[in-house]
Amino acid sequence: MPTKVGMVSLGCAKNMVNSEQMLQKLKDAGYDITGPLDKVDTIVINTCGFIESAKAEAIDNTLEFAELKKEGRLRKIIVAGCLSERYKDEIMRELPEVDGLVGCGSFDEIAEVVSGVMEGDKVCRFGDIDAPISETGRVVTSGPGWAYLRIAEGCDNCCAYCVIPSLRGKYRSRPMENILGEARMLAEMGVKELIVIAQDTSRYGTDLYGERKLSELVRRLCDISGIDWIRLHYLYPDEIDDELIDTVAREEKVVKYLDIPIQHINNGILKRMNRRGTGTEIRELFKKLRERIPGLVLRTSIIAGLPGEGEAEFEELASFLRETKIERGGVFVYSPEEGTEAAGMPDIPDRETAEHRCALLTDIQSRIIDEFNESMLGKVLTVLVEGVDNATGYLYGRSFADSPDVDGRVLFDAQAGLGDFVKVRITDIIDGELAGEVEE
Ligand code: SF4
Repeated sequence: MPTKVGMVSLGCAKNMVNSEQMLQKLKDAGYDITGPLDKVDTIVINTCGFIESAKAEAIDNTLEFAELKKEGRLRKIIVAGCLSERYKDEIMRELPEVDGLVGCGSFDEIAEVVSGVMEGDKVCRFGDIDAPISETGRVVTSGPGWAYLRIAEGCDNCCAYCVIPSLRGKYRSRPMENILGEARMLAEMGVKELIVIAQDTSRYGTDLYGERKLSELVRRLCDISGIDWIRLHYLYPDEIDDELIDTVAREEKVVKYLDIPIQHINNGILKRMNRRGTGTEIRELFKKLRERIPGLVLRTSIIAGLPGEGEAEFEELASFLRETKIERGGVFVYSPEEGTEAAGMPDIPDRETAEHRCALLTDIQSRIIDEFNESMLGKVLTVLVEGVDNATGYLYGRSFADSPDVDGRVLFDAQAGLGDFVKVRITDIIDGELAGEVEE
């Protein structure tokens, strides 16, 4: 009987792709990766470790499986990913239940680590996080009908509050032919929506080809038959050039949805956080994008309570959000992370103030989402069908304006296949979600 291995994937979409690649490696090595998580011999917890809440979630998961191990229902625990990369010594010292560690430079070695711990060894693998990206297959766990397409690894932006470059290494673009090959494979598997991700997608190609190549890559992805939607995430504001804007505007398959994390709008804070560009440039960029791409839905990420954020800076951010009406916005409380420049800076607002500001900004955003939903009433949206809503029994899916896990859904009461597209006329808003009737 092959050893049963389970995978828990925490954190961001990039980490999810690593989990899928590890599953492929395990499958290729003959391990059974199909079982329920409470019936496996070894569990791999692929962790996130970049802010306090993510670290807590990773540790909670590890302790949960440690309980199963104590009860004899699990034999081995392997902790992989960013928490391991960041706290290898602390984990081995403080979590003796953990049998193996896999760093962000060693996902490829997961099968060896599993065989080592199954033989009773404590196995730790920490490869070079700047090494060229290994091109391995993956067991796609997303869908139906969509998958992430990671085009690069690491980051060179070095924002002052961020530990990711120290965990994921320097920026490395994947060769374009490899990305296109993977996209074709996904299309053959029935994937219709590709969600393009990296720590910074807009920088794609600058290291490998000496120039930005995202626009060219997107145009070539549009040529792949079977792919209907291409969604761009993690664009850095000052890397968005006219060629990319034209490509998004012109290519039908590119959904009119752009994720552009800005974190703040105040010039002083942007500068201190080592973010390129000014508040004025961000305002001008968003204005230009809305003019050049009609019906565009913008997503962004905002951090409340960054060092140097006083009442005036906060109010500037709040009024910017009220004015710009960014349809999709994730607001986070600043988490001072040891090892970052920002954590050592003076004038860090206290936690209570940061949480209060986060709540105020989240409230602004939820009113904007309500306004956006109102504006969708009577419209016909193309929806990718994803599942059945347990509460209502309705089917649900996502429109161009919704990215998985972070945005809303569209509910409708009709028969349709998962992974299919249907046209839904929006007739209602139920608990903040759009609902409607399928147009034949
Ligand atoms: S762009 Fe900035 S915040 Fe994003 S991963 Fe890179 S350093 Fe971190």
